Amino acid sequence: MKIRVNKSTNFSKKIRSSKDIRFLIIHYTGMQSARVSMDRLKNPNSKVSCHYFINRNGNIYKMVDDNKIAWHAGKSKWKNVRNLNKCSIGIEIQNKGHFIDYQNFPKKQISSLIVLIKSLLKKYKIKKCNVLGHSDIAPLRKKDPGEKFPWDFLSLKGVSIWYPKFKLKKKEIKSKAKRRIFFKNVHKIGYRFFNLSQKSNRDRKIIMAFQRRFLPNEVTGKITDKTLKISQLLA
Ligand SMILES: [Zn+2]
Repeated sequence: MKIRVNKSTNFSKKIRSSKDIRFLIIHYTGMQSARVSMDRLKNPNSKVSCHYFINRNGNIYKMVDDNKIAWHAGKSKWKNVRNLNKCSIGIEIQNKGHFIDYQNFPKKQISSLIVLIKSLLKKYKIKKCNVLGHSDIAPLRKKDPGEKFPWDFLSLKGVSIWYPKFKLKKKEIKSKAKRRIFFKNVHKIGYRFFNLSQKSNRDRKIIMAFQRRFLPNEVTGKITDKTLKISQLLA
């Protein structure tokens, strides 16, 4: 694995130990080009950065050392961990994103990403269930890496979780109970930013974040039978 260097000075002063690194967070840049993205990730005024950047040709750039805390996650939560910057490695992959022109992720880019993730999982003994998308840990604010990101393929390569194949029986669960069961399941999986016992307008965003990750062809914001079943299989 060839890693180029393009250093950013956007990181916290505190040095962390390798056992502090427990999560990998995948982002898309949401910017026009790799050059614009890397410029921003290096600009001291932007106050954002990542550890690794991967362009659309699959070239990997190191921007911040693993033992430094990069600024990629922002306000975030997963299970009982808040603000995941301190305990994660952030990987940005070039894609114009939903607000400009959301693109498919090229094979070369994904292959490089998988090689990189594999090496990081091994090096820091990170569990594959801790490879997450930005939208998983900040579902109210973020859509990246989005529904075109091939999480199922990553799981096939052993670097991410997925669910087993299933057949849907008709009317498996009564619709009344759907909300309660779904949110209990996603809470168990790790999603936060919602109230378990009370409906709110946040619900839709959480459901969509879950669907972007696990049911990318049906990002509806509605708890369908399929959505519910997948949440059960994962929980
Ligand atoms: Zn992001």
